[in-house]
Amino acid sequence: MSERFFPDSMPPPLADTTTLPWWQAAAEHRLVVQRCTSCRHTRLPPAPICPECRTADADWKEVSGLGEVYTYTLVHRPIAAGQELPFVVAVISLEDAGGVRIISNVVDVDPEAVSIGMPVELVWEDMSADLAVPRFRPREQKP
Ligand SMILES: [Zn+2]
Repeated sequence: MSERFFPDSMPPPLADTTTLPWWQAAAEHRLVVQRCTSCRHTRLPPAPICPECRTADADWKEVSGLGEVYTYTLVHRPIAAGQELPFVVAVISLEDAGGVRIISNVVDVDPEAVSIGMPVELVWEDMSADLAVPRFRPREQKP
């Protein structure tokens, strides 16, 4: 992405002890999902224990960032000063991520052109030297 999706007046996301490894991977432009080392259940967002088997042990799996729009909405009200409207908030089904979905934005597209099932790919927005946020853009269809 060539420019910031949200204006500088938008507060940046904050990490905690559970999500810090996810944000560290994001800063390296790696999209990861958390995986239970006991039952292999995949979860996103990260959580301190597995919702399936209550085990605390987990590892991180890097995924491709390919997916499709599961559902979306167009936001017509600004959430930060200088916000370009409307913008797209979408739930993205990730292809190789154990069935998890991620809430993000679809960018580099006319918001009115977004549709359910639209193939998308990951694009990183660098908000600062150590903070990158995943966004998604329409994927080129191969003939
Ligand atoms: Zn588990």
